Amino acid sequence: MTLNENADIDTSQVTDARGSGGGGGSLGGLGGLPIPIGGGTVGTLIVLALIVAGTFLGPKLMGGGDAGGPGVDQTCSTANPDRLNQSECRNALYINSIQAYWRTALPTTFGEQYQQVDTVFFAQQVNTGCGMADSGVGPFYCPLDDQVYIDLSFYDELAQRFGAKGRFAQPYVLAHEYGHHVQDILGTSDDVQRRSQADPGSANELSVRLELQADCFAGVWAKHALETKDAKGVPIFSSLTQADIDQALEAAAAIGDDRIQSQAGGPIDESKFTHGTSEQRSRWFNTGYTSGDGKQCDTFSRAI
Ligand SMILES: [Zn+2]
Repeated sequence: MTLNENADIDTSQVTDARGSGGGGGSLGGLGGLPIPIGGGTVGTLIVLALIVAGTFLGPKLMGGGDAGGPGVDQTCSTANPDRLNQSECRNALYINSIQAYWRTALPTTFGEQYQQVDTVFFAQQVNTGCGMADSGVGPFYCPLDDQVYIDLSFYDELAQRFGAKGRFAQPYVLAHEYGHHVQDILGTSDDVQRRSQADPGSANELSVRLELQADCFAGVWAKHALETKDAKGVPIFSSLTQADIDQALEAAAAIGDDRIQSQAGGPIDESKFTHGTSEQRSRWFNTGYTSGDGKQCDTFSRAI
């Protein structure tokens, strides 16, 4: 994968909150936080967030937001020849590409308008519309404030602890989280939430289906990534190869529930799966990638 040196980075799509950790209560106290994409001990933040919606308490994130603080703006401007070597700039550009894709594809595929949302870069902990979160939960999407959250050091963990070292693991992670935003727009997340509450015994399976669909949406984006452009019409990527796709598949497999459970040293307990096995995650990414069509990501009526 090569990012295009000539592409403009739209830093208005990211909020840099790395300098502002923040006090307050903990989401963990609300009972069983979940793994968004990555490792750890937690369930599904999205689902949790909806369960507590209405009763929750947490202050909204930094009212108004400091969209693309001067730090990121300067670091990622075309005046900095080193910008594409900076993690925050590369990630901002991945986000630009993912949102450019859905802006075009959501209306044509699903007849809905895409709503652009920010990704918040944080360090260690962050106050969100879904409550306080720390880096241990991995990257996540909060449907209550419509933002994606990531501590960029998660990628080091992905490489070291989960063995997914490839660079294309990063846009895969972001595209998965934006997949949750797409599900939010389509009403899928709400639907899953309602069904989980009506039948708690089905909650884990529904969570797996939701997560696999987000993996599939990530694959759909990857298929079209080379077509995405910056605001001036300059392509964001200049190359993307099968080796990159393999890195995404490897990352998807690395964070399968079975792999994480066995790494934790315990028995494999399928009833506790929330995201799907390594095989399911990479297969659904690939379903999205080979079809390039979000309509093929129907993990709810098809066998998974
Ligand atoms: Zn997820």
